[in-house]
Formats: sequence, structure tokens, C-alpha cells
Amino acid sequence: MSIELSVVVPVYNEEENIPELHRRLAAVLAPLVRSYEIVFVDDGSADRTWSVVGELAAADPHVKGLSFSRNFGHQAAFTAGLDHAGGEAVVIMDADLQDPPELLPELVAKWREGYDVVYAQRSRREGETAFKLVTAAAFYRLLQRLTQVDVPVDTGDFRLMSGKAVEAFRRLPERHRFTRGLVAWMGFRQIGVQYVRAARRAGETKYTMRKMLRLATDGLTAFSRLPLLAALWTGVALVGVGALGALGFVAARLSGTYVSGLWGLAAGVLALAGVQLVGLGLLGEWVGRIYEEVKGRPLYLVQATANLGSQPVARRR
Ligand code: UDP
Ligand code: MG
Repeated sequence: MSIELSVVVPVYNEEENIPELHRRLAAVLAPLVRSYEIVFVDDGSADRTWSVVGELAAADPHVKGLSFSRNFGHQAAFTAGLDHAGGEAVVIMDADLQDPPELLPELVAKWREGYDVVYAQRSRREGETAFKLVTAAAFYRLLQRLTQVDVPVDTGDFRLMSGKAVEAFRRLPERHRFTRGLVAWMGFRQIGVQYVRAARRAGETKYTMRKMLRLATDGLTAFSRLPLLAALWTGVALVGVGALGALGFVAARLSGTYVSGLWGLAAGVLALAGVQLVGLGLLGEWVGRIYEEVKGRPLYLVQATANLGSQPVARRR
């Protein structure tokens, strides 16, 4: 029997949240679709997450799971979920119930209207630190300014994708994945649905400062070359300033005024060295990323599955 809807949930140390999420999802999904599956992707958890998934999978054939050989990160985890999902449409959501299962009927309704990507847009967020709210708001606006693709503001990864969109997504091989950007880049018929983002139900955020910064850099570097261009234009501007300074120096000498060039020289050298280092650093960042892509390592390694059988992995890289 074909599956109408797959729900993909990346889980990293979420043992406390999974049973409740499963209960609420099942209640919403049973009357909503003909048939469904819930695919838990265990991103190398250190707690009992994988056992909990295993127990659920043994009791409920709707539940499927795969477990990574180590922590590969949230973006890799739902990429794996999308690779293994068999539904005509796929929903991606977090495990901590910040993404309410009760929004699924709205997402599915839009899909049935013919949309290929239905993203959930936060109209309000509860239980987040002021720091997270401010940095997130600033980041989405900066991204919008800097990039060519139109990433909708205030959206996370909570979204529904049609089979067509999932198929397209599976063809994107890149390693540094900023999914919101990739999905925006894909095109198709997209629409947003508003929701209030709840607070995390149990446990701590699994997005450490480092992971958040990495995601932000991935987003900026993958969709914008503007920082590189900025280095170029700063260089051009400084060459202009330097030339003007030299002209002024010559003019002063010609008119017989004495100017000690030392201070100007020191400042100029420092400024130039700074600009060169910034430029080099930026270039290095991009070269490093090219190297990572060229190596072509797989995005994730699976160590165990539950209820997935020998279903082939769609992604070969
Ligand atoms: N997650 C993951 N791998 C990681 C970090 C997080 O699979 O390395 C999962 C986590 O279990 C949750 C989702 O990604 O289902 C979002 O994480 P979290 O709620 O901690 O992020 P926040 O909501 O604080 O941004
Ligand atoms: Mg969360």
C-alpha cells in the first residue's frame, strides 16, 4: 500500500519527547490521511533515544527509524529522513514539540490545493531567550539582504514538501546544507502558513552556539558571494585613498611644505595589511568549502534501521 504522508523527525537526545510527540502525531494523522509513516532519524544520540524509537517501532508499524553512526547534525539528519521517506508528501519537524503536530492539517490542506512546498512561518515564539530572538531576527534579515534567493523570514525547517519537491531535493548533493535556502532556491509552488512556535517541551536546546554559528555561516556562504565582493571593493576603495594620499604628498612637496610621511605610511600599511588578511581569510573560507565538497564524502552513515527493511537509500553520494 502506498504511503500518503511521511513525517520526518530528526532526534538528538530526545528520549523524553519522543513518546509524547508520537502520541500527538498519531492522533492528528489517523483521521487526516489515508496512510502515514513517522521516520525518526537518530543523529547519534547518547541517551536512550534509539531504544525508545525501537520500542515504538515494535509496537506501531507506522514508526520507522534509522540511526546514524555518530552525530552528523540536524541538517544531515533530515536529509537522511527525506532520502528514506516513501510518502507522496513529506513533513519535516522537530522532536521537541516546538513545531505543533496540530498544524499538520493546514499543511496538508495546502498540499492538496496543489502547493509543492508549504512552510510554517512563526508569527510568535514562546520560551526562547531574548538573545536567540534577536540573533535569529537579525540573521534572517541579513540573509535576505545578502542573498539572491528569497528565503522567507521567520521560517525554520518545519515544512511539507510534495513528492516532486522531495525528488528535487534529493538531487542536491552539497555537504554544507542550509535547507531553508536550498528549498527556496528550488522554486515550485510555495506558500507559508502562520503558527505560534511553542517552547521546547523537555530537555535543553541541542543547537549549541557553535552549531548555530555554523548554520548561519553555511547559509551566508552557500547563497551569497557578497562578502568576497565586499573584500574586493574595499581593496579598490583603499587603492583610491592611497593614490589620493600620494598625490597630496607630492603636491605638498612641490609647494614646499614639509610633511613627515612616517605616520601616514604606518597607518596606510596597517590598513592595507588588514584588508589583505580579511580578503585572504574570506578566500580561505571559500576554498575550504570547495575542498570539503570536492572530497564528496557521504552526508551521513547509517548504523541501524527499524521497520525500514532493505529500502534503498536514494542518495548515492
Ligand atoms: N537535532 C539533531 N542533531 C543535532 C541537533 C539537533 O538531530 O545535532 C534535532 C533535535 O533533536 C530537534 C531538532 O534537531 O528535534 C531541533 O533542535 P533544537 O530543538 O535543539 O533546536 P532549537 O529549537 O533550540 O533551535
Ligand atoms: Mg527546539
